[in-house]
Amino acid sequence: RAKEEGGGKHCHYEPRLHLHAEERRTLEVALREALEKQQLSVVYQPVVSAKTGAVEGFESLIRWTHPEMGPISPAKFIPVAEDARLIAPIGEWVLRTACHEAMHWPANVRVAVNVSAEQLSHPSFVSTVMSALAQSGLPAHRLELEVTESVFMRDDTSATQVLEQILALGIKLSLDDFGTGYSSLGYLSRTRFSTIKVDRSFVVGASRNVPESLAIVRAVVALAESLGMATTAEGVETESEVEMVNRLGCTKIQGYYFGRPMPAEEARSLFGRGGISAVA
Ligand code: C2E
Ligand code: MG
Ligand code: MG
Ligand code: MG
Repeated sequence: RAKEEGGGKHCHYEPRLHLHAEERRTLEVALREALEKQQLSVVYQPVVSAKTGAVEGFESLIRWTHPEMGPISPAKFIPVAEDARLIAPIGEWVLRTACHEAMHWPANVRVAVNVSAEQLSHPSFVSTVMSALAQSGLPAHRLELEVTESVFMRDDTSATQVLEQILALGIKLSLDDFGTGYSSLGYLSRTRFSTIKVDRSFVVGASRNVPESLAIVRAVVALAESLGMATTAEGVETESEVEMVNRLGCTKIQGYYFGRPMPAEEARSLFGRGGISAVA
């Protein structure tokens, strides 16, 4: 039931779950309420250096537990939020929360925040980012925004311009889920990404010695290296996956093997200070 529509047709956005109109409407109403009643939260997953295993940063991931429906995956509700014009307020809330939280971490630890295509195209996006930095006091270089190829499929020129403004502020950019969307590679030469994130599907394939996956990971690492970009292997769960992505030359690793997405307090406690000080 997930994807019988849209397959062969022109699809300008990344593949999304096709929910029935009724389910979508239910989620939309519930999501609006969740935002008002503060039922949303943010968890943080460590990203470690492949070489040393040291935590270089955390990716912020939104969570929603509905009082009756239980936990709802962001893969399901983010597209609903985009369609219902709720992504701007939700995205802004995640951004502000994550920037404040990062102020509790050592100064060399970065925070990454996912930004969807719809959010990026919002007219006040850049000023919201500036405000989040100013209000939290987080230096721009400690913030990383993750976008997917899909931002270039919408409106290539304006996406490039917005990303240019973000870079000019000193914020880092990473390219999420690389290789899973489809678009030309032209934008890679125009936008200065710091990191390309290699999608978990390729990591899994490579560690099982699927020749195509191995070839893709090798090619992505080589491409990133020659463009002066780092690579993060996503969704690394096992020791053999760690070995494989290390052997293939990925520079950073993220996945359950090193740490699951965790509540803010737990992330803080990793730095051994018990998380005493408080901001906002
Ligand atoms: P993503 O940005 O590619 O995030 C990585 C996803 O992989 C997360 O799923 C994370 O929990 C999961 N993951 C991490 N390590 C492993 C692993 O070892 N094995 C497996 N199987 N999975 C792993 P999550 O949190 O369910 O988020 C799904 C997607 O929803 C994200 O993919 C991102 O596209 C979107 N998303 C999450 N939070 C936000 C947000 O605040 N704003 C926006 N716009 N999108 C978000
Ligand atoms: Mg991401
Ligand atoms: Mg990803
Ligand atoms: Mg992914």
